[in-house]
Amino acid sequence: MKRKILVASTNPGKLGELRAMLGRDVRWVSLADFPGIEEIAEDGPTFAENARKKALGYARATGLWTIADDSGLMVNALGGAPGVKSARFSGEKETDRGLLDHKNMAKLLKLLKAVPSQKRTARFVCRLCLASPEKVLIETEGTLEGIIAQSEIGTNGFGYDPVFFVPEMKKTVAQLSPGQKNAISHRGRAIAKLKPLLTELLR
Ligand code: IMP
Repeated sequence: MKRKILVASTNPGKLGELRAMLGRDVRWVSLADFPGIEEIAEDGPTFAENARKKALGYARATGLWTIADDSGLMVNALGGAPGVKSARFSGEKETDRGLLDHKNMAKLLKLLKAVPSQKRTARFVCRLCLASPEKVLIETEGTLEGIIAQSEIGTNGFGYDPVFFVPEMKKTVAQLSPGQKNAISHRGRAIAKLKPLLTELLR
């Protein structure tokens, strides 16, 4: 029988990515299948702790194996900020997702205004955690290294993609197709690491 695994997200994009990359030996469900469930806050100091807290919390609430992720942008010249605060870097109030992304990028570009290109190094980080109600089963991390551009370029993707320049591709992430992004992204890499470990666990 296929094992049922909860993806601790209501984001259809994330569910689709996991489904596509982790194959069909699993029956995937998402938080959208548990409408009344109490939200678990991402308020920890690290991506790893947030992913672990969500995976264990939702696994205990549902009785299902649960995969949770936490991701964000770390900029070296800002001591690792925005980090775990990436989603709400410019403030808590904005509810329009597109506008929030622009405000976050505007704040970032302003803070880096006087920083020359060779010192604008940054990385996207994604932590994934699979937990049962009893314990953490698998944890993986994926990163993507890049440079913060001087302005927004490209319209694909979300979040900080238009200002994240990938030197090997000579493009920002927002200029990549979804397939190109998945192949190199922090999330794609964390999922690729999880895949053989999950296959092993399901045997
Ligand atoms: P979360 O893991 O969904 O909580 O993501 C936190 C925040 O990090 C997002 O709202 C984005 O601002 C940023 N972020 C995470 N992954 C990406 C990405 O692939 N591209 C651009 N921004 C990202």
